[in-house]
Amino acid sequence: MVKIVMLGPPGAGKGTYATRLAPKLGIPTISTGELFRENIKNNTEIGKKAKEYIEKGELVPDEIVIEMLKQRLQKDDTKNGFILDGFPRTLEQAKALEEISDIDVVIYLDVPEEIIIKRLSARRQCKKCGAIYNLLYLKPKVDGICDKCGGELYQRDDDKPEAIKERLRVYEEKTAPLKEYYINKGKLITIKTTKIDTPPEEQVEKIMEALKQKGLI
Ligand code: AMP
Repeated sequence: MVKIVMLGPPGAGKGTYATRLAPKLGIPTISTGELFRENIKNNTEIGKKAKEYIEKGELVPDEIVIEMLKQRLQKDDTKNGFILDGFPRTLEQAKALEEISDIDVVIYLDVPEEIIIKRLSARRQCKKCGAIYNLLYLKPKVDGICDKCGGELYQRDDDKPEAIKERLRVYEEKTAPLKEYYINKGKLITIKTTKIDTPPEEQVEKIMEALKQKGLI
């Protein structure tokens, strides 16, 4: 049983690493961003409420995201643990999470801003299965097509320049303070990235090592 939070700016690799880590640990990845994108695609009430915030690169209000996560954590597949990707993003969310569940560890992805900006502009995602690619270093075998499921790759609207700028600003203001919060709780592990083309597998190995050292797996 291990409950993990992935923390870091947009484009740090949270989703890329979480989706590779999860099968190794036999637990699901829960991405609030993915949950919102599904809700928008299916035109649900949550989707309708969240859409305008997401398109502008702003955070969806705490009460909406907290309620959505609470519901997701009630599903059976979380009984052996989970990896949270993109939650919490505010102090209020971190406090709400404490009421819902006991997190074991927070993996903070430390990535320089110039790498983040290059990565986000070149990121592509599968419409069908959500797999993440990058035109600079994590390319699909066939242009525009997902290796895993053959789905079509697209660029997220919020990976376009104006929204990227806003997301980074919001990260610094609202989410970066969570580093200190989790350091004070003795839960933060930092994983550094210094090169844009470091293979995800290499970083995932580092995370696995850190979890072993902490006696969590
Ligand atoms: P992500 O896929 O994690 O980059 O999330 C995409 C967008 O969904 C974010 O830019 C926010 O607008 C919204 N979002 C995802 N997770 C949260 C959260 N925990 N709190 C508020 N908004 C969120």
